[in-house]
Amino acid sequence: MTKRVVLIGHPVAHSLSGAMQQGAFDALGIDARYEPWDRTALELPDAIADVRGDDDILGANLTVPHKERVVPLIDRLTEDAQLTGAVNTLTREGRRLVGHNTDVQGFATALDRLVGRQKMPRQAVVLGAGGGARAVVFTLIREGFQRIVVFNRHLHRAESLVKHFGRSAAHMDLRAMPWHESIIESELAKTRVVVNATSIGLGGDESPVSGAIIPAGLLVLDLIYSRTRFLRDAEAAGSTVMDGETMLLHQGAAAFSLWTGQPAPLELMANALSGARAHGLRSAEGELAGPEPELAPAEEAAASTAG
Ligand code: NDP
Repeated sequence: MTKRVVLIGHPVAHSLSGAMQQGAFDALGIDARYEPWDRTALELPDAIADVRGDDDILGANLTVPHKERVVPLIDRLTEDAQLTGAVNTLTREGRRLVGHNTDVQGFATALDRLVGRQKMPRQAVVLGAGGGARAVVFTLIREGFQRIVVFNRHLHRAESLVKHFGRSAAHMDLRAMPWHESIIESELAKTRVVVNATSIGLGGDESPVSGAIIPAGLLVLDLIYSRTRFLRDAEAAGSTVMDGETMLLHQGAAAFSLWTGQPAPLELMANALSGARAHGLRSAEGELAGPEPELAPAEEAAASTAG
């Protein structure tokens, strides 16, 4: 009987993760199908009940906008999921569902590649406070960052995030700030790492901030898997940039191992991502994935992973 892994999000459309995961199942001779389920927030509890009740479903991915909302619907959380308060991967233990957060591994790998041989910086600005931002902030705290400022359109969400990490961040300065360009500008001038964890730039050529306020010499990571305006502006200002491909690949590889118990075929998955992107598909996270004129650093990193 063909097993299934489902991707639950809204929207999910055509999925780069589908190409990456299906390619890996097929290459390893695993009889499984990766299936997108477009479910709204209202439909999420039923979708989770459907996963729980069907033994042929090996597990699932959760994407925008469900990563936090799904937490109370899950039977057990792994440590990373519990500590971030967000779930992007489900596995099953019989009729019980286990929530994992493989975005943490994905972001940690991306950050490591972005920083390269330099000393790990200690200050970061995070734009956004959703499910993805939680994996980002958790990883930055674990990496020893001493000051992290989180900006979000709805300030209360950034404040909840800060409160959630209260204990693990007790030794350092983690704070939420209101989304005003002048305040963001002043924080960018004091920081080393900037992460866009908003979905601004996902559907159109918009940036969360004006290019004029981005200083030179930053390390800039956009979770969106394309060469966004934000990344182009940051690069033009003299910063080192990386898009969301490395994170997408490594969170996917970790999820694959959880579902199958086998090491992920990383090179094959990287090639499947590039191939799907060249055909204009969207990623599991919904990012536009049209062909790019040249390789972004993150793509080079993924290509070297693949090498
Ligand atoms: P959520 O829906 O949980 O959060 C969305 C975030 O974007 C919130 O901070 C929200 O702010 C902000 N936002 C959305 N629209 C606007 C807007 N018009 N103006 C200002 N802020 C806005 O999504 P996720 O956290 O799961 O994902 C966020 C982004 O990260 C997506 O682009 C996703 O594709 C990407 N991602 C990529 C991954 C990868 O592997 N490369 C992994 C995880 C995420 P507010 O709270 O005020 O609404």
